[in-house]
Amino acid sequence: MHVVMIGGSDAGISAALRARELDPAADVTVILEDAYPNFSICGIPYYVSGEVTHWRNLAHRTTADLAAAGMRLRTGTTVRRIDVPGRKLLVTTPGGGEEVLGYDKLVIGTGAVPVRPPITGLSGPGALGPAEGVHLLHSMGDTFAVMRTLEETAPASVIIVGAGYIGLEMADALTIRGLHVTQIEQLAEVLPTVDPQLGALVHAELASHGVEVLTGTTVRAISTALPGASGRLQVQATAADDTAVTRQADMVLVVVGVRPETTLAAEAGATLGVKGAISVDQMMRTGLPGIFAAGDCVITHHRLLGETYLPLGTTAHKQGRIAGENTLGGPRQFAGSLGTQVVKIFDQAAARTGLRDHEARAAGYDPVTTETQADDHKAYYPGSHRITLRVTGDRTTGRLLGMQLSGHKDAEIAKRTDIAVTAIYHGMTIDAVSDLDLSYTPPLGSPWDAVQMAAQAWVRQTPAGSISGRC
Ligand SMILES: Cc1cc2nc3c(=O)[nH]c(=O)nc-3n(C[C@H](O)[C@H](O)[C@H](O)COP(=O)(O)OP(=O)(O)OC[C@H]3O[C@@H](n4cnc5c(N)ncnc54)[C@H](O)[C@@H]3O)c2cc1C
Repeated sequence: MHVVMIGGSDAGISAALRARELDPAADVTVILEDAYPNFSICGIPYYVSGEVTHWRNLAHRTTADLAAAGMRLRTGTTVRRIDVPGRKLLVTTPGGGEEVLGYDKLVIGTGAVPVRPPITGLSGPGALGPAEGVHLLHSMGDTFAVMRTLEETAPASVIIVGAGYIGLEMADALTIRGLHVTQIEQLAEVLPTVDPQLGALVHAELASHGVEVLTGTTVRAISTALPGASGRLQVQATAADDTAVTRQADMVLVVVGVRPETTLAAEAGATLGVKGAISVDQMMRTGLPGIFAAGDCVITHHRLLGETYLPLGTTAHKQGRIAGENTLGGPRQFAGSLGTQVVKIFDQAAARTGLRDHEARAAGYDPVTTETQADDHKAYYPGSHRITLRVTGDRTTGRLLGMQLSGHKDAEIAKRTDIAVTAIYHGMTIDAVSDLDLSYTPPLGSPWDAVQMAAQAWVRQTPAGSISGRC
């Protein structure tokens, strides 16, 4: 049995490791077009900031570790075509030659590529690119280009287009490197994946570290600045009230999201679904014989919403592992995502899981959302921090649908979010969250954890929710 993975990042490598783990005799080949198998691209901002001192440290595992796990790695090799009936791949080798490679089972893990928004000067003839200090950021190759600009041209300032989690992490990273950062976001608040009340806390954190934040502002054009300007590049934008906004900087970073890389799969006849991602069932089967797919190139099964597109590393790892297991016969099902995310910006963390109010309403629930503030541990013990929690539950059933948290990076925001994840996963009511036997000692928590205080506040403000059954 020859199992082949296309893609050597989170999804492809997870699939390969699982196949080898289950069957040490399985013949497993991973093909990737770049030279960086199993690199944690999630760690890129921390390499750019200098907190991670060498790019090689971003590797989850070294090439030697992967070889020791028994997989064959074909780096610098691009798959051009999948011959579905013949179970063969046409590949371009590092030397530029062509080769045909057979497979019995295939996992497509081709990931995503960054979105290039319709900004004049970013695409088309004469477009500005890394040589001029204009960058997109997704891969290790993009990272090396960013580092070249930083090290060879010593920019004093940067404009970051986009204030999603990657844009925010890069604002943090480039401020640490000493650049003055202007962050421009088209939507009304930064970090639009959480409610604006929490986005505003992140906004304040950026401002307190000297980042100029322009929200409700759409970038229209990037061009070379005229001599004598305060930066090498000029960005023209339009504010929400239609006024023109112009900023100059030495570097521009455009990070406005990704789209699934599905060319190979689509040409092979795979069905595409939400946002053009490859349609897969919960066993990660594409519907093409012997072909599975996982990671940023596929749709995401969401436990509360059905099919969505949520390109995240944590999801890619899980889906890849399932695809790898199922190449050997499985049967394993992807249990579904809750869209859980967490981000650290300077000293602040923000997280979400499940649904926000408007998402729950659109999905047919009768949502109520309440906001609570609570201490991360007993305030009498030094170093306590206030956490803001927003709880969304269904009025009719009292079921927990979503939770958003923001607070100091040391306030265990991520792990508290994971309490909510576990509760939503198991269909718990918000009332039942108070029954959880959570740990307590004054330096680390409270007799009622912040999550339980937020749950109790929701129940108090939503009497109908408190009469529902417990899970
Ligand atoms: C800066 C940054 C920070 C992030 N932070 C987080 C985070 O904190 N938490 C989180 O959950 N997620 C985070 N993510 C997202 C996460 O990194 C991705 O969801 C994850 O890496 C997706 O893995 P993947 O294997 O599906 O695809 P990708 O990582 O996109 O890899 C695709 C692979 O396919 C290969 N490939 C593509 N086409 C071909 C072809 N034709 N032939 C051969 N090989 C091919 C590529 O070489 C690559 O190896 C972050 C992403 C970035 C860029």
